[in-house]
Amino acid sequence: MPDPLHHNDLPATYPDSWYAASAPIARQRPGLHGDRRADVCIVGAGLCGLTAALHLAQAGLSVIVLEAHRAGWGASGRNGGQVGAGFNTDMPWLRARLGDGPARALWDMTEEAKQLLRTLAAAHAPDAPFKPGVAHAAWSASEARALHATAEDLARRLAEHPVKGECVVLIAPGTEAVANDEAVRAALVNAMETMRVKDAATAVAGAMGRPRREVYQMALALKDTT
Ligand SMILES: Cc1cc2nc3c(=O)[nH]c(=O)nc-3n(C[C@H](O)[C@H](O)[C@H](O)COP(=O)(O)OP(=O)(O)OC[C@H]3O[C@@H](n4cnc5c(N)ncnc54)[C@H](O)[C@@H]3O)c2cc1C
Repeated sequence: MPDPLHHNDLPATYPDSWYAASAPIARQRPGLHGDRRADVCIVGAGLCGLTAALHLAQAGLSVIVLEAHRAGWGASGRNGGQVGAGFNTDMPWLRARLGDGPARALWDMTEEAKQLLRTLAAAHAPDAPFKPGVAHAAWSASEARALHATAEDLARRLAEHPVKGECVVLIAPGTEAVANDEAVRAALVNAMETMRVKDAATAVAGAMGRPRREVYQMALALKDTT
């Protein structure tokens, strides 16, 4: 049976690519020789394994992480780096299958995960060029309507817990590029965490197709209430 870990790749060797030439790739570490003992052994140095290792070590356990290639070799080192809310399915779908409470609990978990990521980045990678927010662009009028419905659903259902870090941008051929006020406010709340009010307003106005002056007024009002 072929070894799936080395079927496509030589050990720890990236194929010749723009990614390999430009990304800050983790150094190659020596292999494990002889016997080692630890409280926990984790297989795989991706986001999942390394996060688990960090928390276990912080809890006082000794940890060994075994990786077949390099840290971040798999999806974790090569993903889009987007930090979004929710899941790859929308909240109405989750609510219909799980009920309001469990769906809401799942949503809250993703919000906690985003907060955890920021905390970890601040503590361990303060120079990481993290920029909050995800832009959702629609390619057709029906997609734009679906995104509008999603934004409205989130604003209505999660009003006490605004959608932080999400910026819903509706752009469809033949459709005016607009975002509703809730989406603009959510994007502003998020942008103002890391930017000055003026800069946040300029960024959000540009991204969401709204007049800068109007967005600046919204930002000032938000600043006064937070
Ligand atoms: C193209 C792409 C884009 C993505 N974009 C995003 C995004 O923008 N935002 C987002 O949140 N998520 C994104 N994801 C998803 C996200 O990257 C993954 O959910 C996450 O990285 C999974 O982490 P992991 O630690 O479980 O797995 P991995 O990062 O794949 O880590 C697994 C590691 O285990 C090692 N391993 C496996 N088996 C063994 C073994 N037997 N012995 C030793 N080592 C072993 C592998 O070499 C690998 O390094 C994207 C995924 C892909 C593929």
